[in-house]
Amino acid sequence: MNDKRVHIIGAGPAGLVAAINLARAKYEVIVHEQKKDVGGRFKGEYQGLENWSSDEDALDFLNRIGVFLNFCCEPIRETHFCDPFHSVVSVKTKRPLFYLVERGTMEWTLDQGLKRQALAEGVEFHWEEKIETLPSGWVIVATGPKAADAIAKGMVFHTSHPNICVGFLDNRIAPKAYAYLLINNYRGTFATCLFEDFPNEKKYFVRALETAQKLFPFDVQAPQEFGGYINFFLEFSMVRHGRVLYVGETAGFQDALWGFGLRYAMLSGYLAAVSIRTGLFYDDLCRQYIRPFMETSLANRWLFAHLGNRGYRYFLKKMAQSPNVIAELKKNYQPSLLKEMIFQVARKNYRTRLINKQCMHQNCNCVWCRHCREETELSTVG
Ligand SMILES: Cc1cc2nc3c(=O)[nH]c(=O)nc-3n(C[C@H](O)[C@H](O)[C@H](O)COP(=O)(O)OP(=O)(O)OC[C@H]3O[C@@H](n4cnc5c(N)ncnc54)[C@H](O)[C@@H]3O)c2cc1C
Repeated sequence: MNDKRVHIIGAGPAGLVAAINLARAKYEVIVHEQKKDVGGRFKGEYQGLENWSSDEDALDFLNRIGVFLNFCCEPIRETHFCDPFHSVVSVKTKRPLFYLVERGTMEWTLDQGLKRQALAEGVEFHWEEKIETLPSGWVIVATGPKAADAIAKGMVFHTSHPNICVGFLDNRIAPKAYAYLLINNYRGTFATCLFEDFPNEKKYFVRALETAQKLFPFDVQAPQEFGGYINFFLEFSMVRHGRVLYVGETAGFQDALWGFGLRYAMLSGYLAAVSIRTGLFYDDLCRQYIRPFMETSLANRWLFAHLGNRGYRYFLKKMAQSPNVIAELKKNYQPSLLKEMIFQVARKNYRTRLINKQCMHQNCNCVWCRHCREETELSTVG
């Protein structure tokens, strides 16, 4: 095996961060991407790089994992939250609650920024190459979600409305999840997310939009619809055959509570690169730096799903009264004995809703197959 060559399958944030770090360490890195460019899964929508789950600011985090800012990354210090009874709570924070990033093929998206950094380090890209079978040697599989635990239905649009960020909690418009409105520089993203009742996504989207426009009248020009899904699961091992490392959402790395998976995706790409470079076990790194937070996020999901509309109102009221919202949120993301106990209950009841049957083979060598990995815990496939 050529120890200095790494094939990376998938050019999302997880694969690209791995590529940047390995190429910088003088590995020969080949990224295979099924689309003709990075960001092809997205339409220019805004996403939030969350800044509440850790003491480390997201910009310091990016710096630590070897990424510099050559993409739009707008700090958000004021966010409005709307409860099911249409009371609006405005939260102002000293440290940004999150950073707004764009996803897609446009110049200032996170995806394009990471691609430029990878190219500058000498990474070789093979576009429109859908990899079905694992290559030999070191492989990092970074192919994104393969099943849906939650879905989003939304639109990107132009608007004359000034910048604003709003989150809506209401099971009538976003069952067990939330809807969001993000406007920055006269471009907007509006979406509703669903953790259940997927077939009625259109109905929820229409209702969510009506609510949002009633409370924050904004004009919509040149709308373009988008949809998407997120996938969360826990597996015992992220490694196959001792040379194939799974990163990002295809490894189940997601925030089960609200789907803020970007940080996990990029962190896991970085850890995979560290593992190949140093010989440290990737599974050990994941167990230390990612797994405890995923378990806590599943416990949080279980709690959140049981709140109901009155519970959301209480939750938002409590948040509004808090002198330090970020510290309050961070506390909820930290592993604890209580969260561990709730996790044990949550994991027994957690089932992925839409399973991609792309591979149900036993012992095959395709990139989707999860059967060959060691003991599966909360697997979505099989
Ligand atoms: C609507 C929506 C809104 C979201 N909002 C947020 C948010 O606000 N904050 C947040 O933190 N997260 C958010 N997320 C989640 C976030 O987008 C993901 O966690 C993140 O993109 C995962 O990165 P990844 O690199 O693992 O996978 P992806 O970004 O999905 O990249 C995977 C890449 O692999 C390629 N690929 C797949 N299969 C193959 C193959 N066989 N061969 C070659 N290439 C292949 C795909 O084309 C794609 O380019 C959102 C997700 C959705 C759907």
